[in-house]
Amino acid sequence: MPELPEMEALRRLLDEPVSAHAIMHAGPAHVATLKTFDPPLRVLEGQRLAGAERRGKRLFFPTEDGELVLVVHLMSAGRMRWLKPGEAGPKKPAFRLAFEGGAQLVMTEAGSKKRAGVWLLSPEAAAAEVEHLGPEALGLGSEGLDEILRRDSRRLHPLLRDQRAIAGIGRAWSNEILHHAKLSPYALSTDLSDAEVQRLADAIDAELSRGLELREQGKGNAATYRVHDKLGEPCYVCGTLLARVEFEEHTIYYCPTCQTGGRVLKDRRLSRLLR
Ligand SMILES: [Zn+2]
Repeated sequence: MPELPEMEALRRLLDEPVSAHAIMHAGPAHVATLKTFDPPLRVLEGQRLAGAERRGKRLFFPTEDGELVLVVHLMSAGRMRWLKPGEAGPKKPAFRLAFEGGAQLVMTEAGSKKRAGVWLLSPEAAAAEVEHLGPEALGLGSEGLDEILRRDSRRLHPLLRDQRAIAGIGRAWSNEILHHAKLSPYALSTDLSDAEVQRLADAIDAELSRGLELREQGKGNAATYRVHDKLGEPCYVCGTLLARVEFEEHTIYYCPTCQTGGRVLKDRRLSRLLR
């Protein structure tokens, strides 16, 4: 599930190589992956990209002439890879750009549900795509965070994941951040003390920076996450076995000692609440 650290690491990796050569062939693209049809992808052929930009979890590849922007959102199962000339790639990519000189940018998506997307847009339309996003999570700071927390009384885990409130955090980094901040995933945003807001702001920066550094080193999930997906493993701070709780349609991982004062959180599955 690529979130801000993963997407920013990818952006840094792609920024130079995508602009080094003109696009020779744009496509193929899976019919469910390419979300726009006008202009057609082939207008990119012969053009150069100016580099890679990021907003929240989306990547933007503007053309050098400033007329178009290729927007990519990997959702939860999409993956993007840079293939050097001659490097073998997937047989059926969901999307591909082949560059002069032989390098390729390929996107794949595991599973049958095609949710990841590619859009070819005007700069104005590309900007409109991200208009709803909240401020970038990394570097948000305690003042910016405080304003968001006070707006509505919401539980911290879903609030951190809400892209309209804060852009870039998903379920994995919510788990890491809340553990680092020693806050319950169920705590209400308006109940936080000033010291807790500061701790949460610091944890957002610390964890996203840690993630970015590890992803830039090419580290996988097991070496990057310390709480997420680690049910039954000892907490890296106190040694308590990490717990898991179902909240709406998400699974939350946490440490009962560090985060909830020893309390085990109760499942709040949407399906159960609706029964
Ligand atoms: Zn702990």
